[in-house]
Amino acid sequence: MLKRYLLAPGPTQVPPEVLLAMATPVIHHRAPEFADLFGRVRNDLKTVFQTAQDVLILASSGTGAMEGAVSNFLSPGDKAIVINGGKFGERWGKLCQTFGVHVVEIKVEWGQEVDPQLVHEALRKDPSIKAGYVQASETSTGIAHDIKALAELVRERDETILVVDAITALGVFDIPTDAWALDVVVAGSQKAFMLPPGLAFVSVSEKAWRLAEKAKNSAFYFNFKKERDAQAKNQTAYTPAVSMIVGLEAVLRMMKAEGLQNMFARQRRLAHAMREAVQAAGLSLFTKGRPSDALTVIAAPPGIDGQAVYKQLREQYGITAAGGQDHLKGKIFRLSHMGYVDTFDVIMGMAAVEMVLKDLGYPIRLGQGVGKAQELLCASAQKAG
Ligand SMILES: *Cc1c(COP(=O)(O)O)cnc(C)c1O
Repeated sequence: MLKRYLLAPGPTQVPPEVLLAMATPVIHHRAPEFADLFGRVRNDLKTVFQTAQDVLILASSGTGAMEGAVSNFLSPGDKAIVINGGKFGERWGKLCQTFGVHVVEIKVEWGQEVDPQLVHEALRKDPSIKAGYVQASETSTGIAHDIKALAELVRERDETILVVDAITALGVFDIPTDAWALDVVVAGSQKAFMLPPGLAFVSVSEKAWRLAEKAKNSAFYFNFKKERDAQAKNQTAYTPAVSMIVGLEAVLRMMKAEGLQNMFARQRRLAHAMREAVQAAGLSLFTKGRPSDALTVIAAPPGIDGQAVYKQLREQYGITAAGGQDHLKGKIFRLSHMGYVDTFDVIMGMAAVEMVLKDLGYPIRLGQGVGKAQELLCASAQKAG
């Protein structure tokens, strides 16, 4: 028997109470029961997004909402800044190109965060720029771009919006949508929302809705205005992912019980312990700037193939983590600690990394990283800290 553990940066672990909620018989989406459920969920989502605006719920993976965040606000020929410092930043660029949007790309070295000054200059040089697209947490490199600073740059511009992919950020660390005046914020179910894949969420500011009124791109399924109008009546334009929404209610109940700030503190504590443990084990963090608390990206040590670590973790120990993408393939491996995770997910992950590296012939002293994680996460240390 090989017991399975999920430490991938999406999909993430789903709490048993959420799985159970989703196992109940499917309710009809035009029945009053569904509208009641949808109303409750919509209301609680606003709390998690920290916004007074409605949060649209879409039946798709995160990329569906990302696509809508381009097609609904921009027209062919419009210009947008894309911050490209990883796989998902690159995706914003591809989406913009798909919809005829002219991309002003700000390339960031993978593992680094964007310098807001560069964005400031790009915006100043070109008053016609309609939007900036960025990741709050770039999952391919583990970086957390400075969303607050970027938002301040577009705040005063009536015709420019900031669109934030917060798919591995919202629910992990503080992204106060309204307080920071974020125009469009995208999240997805299978990351920090600890649900299976299949739902995407998106909040839209008044400024962004004004842009949507003028946009000439066409969207049929991901038509935000149509969804906004339907969802205001606790309906969806098309058949919603009913069982996922039942699960979402269970997740939101858990989030409410823990409290947003406590949830962020837990995530921060785990991420900090993981990063310290990795370094105590003599390994290097790949992420060079502000790290996202969603995951830890570890540089493969000299002579070790990062993909072999990922493979050995899964095949020998039943732990699904993640390797690197594109030019980082083989150079890094990634362990998530977002969502339904606690102390022993981190300790297990660290223990497994040490064991795998030993298996692969790397001279590692077992227990150094684990010891550090234990030290930082035991209750007495937490009380003292
Ligand atoms: C997972 C992820 C996405 C969306 O991916 P889907 O597979 O479409 O859900 C987008 N951005 C980031 C930063 C992600 O981690």
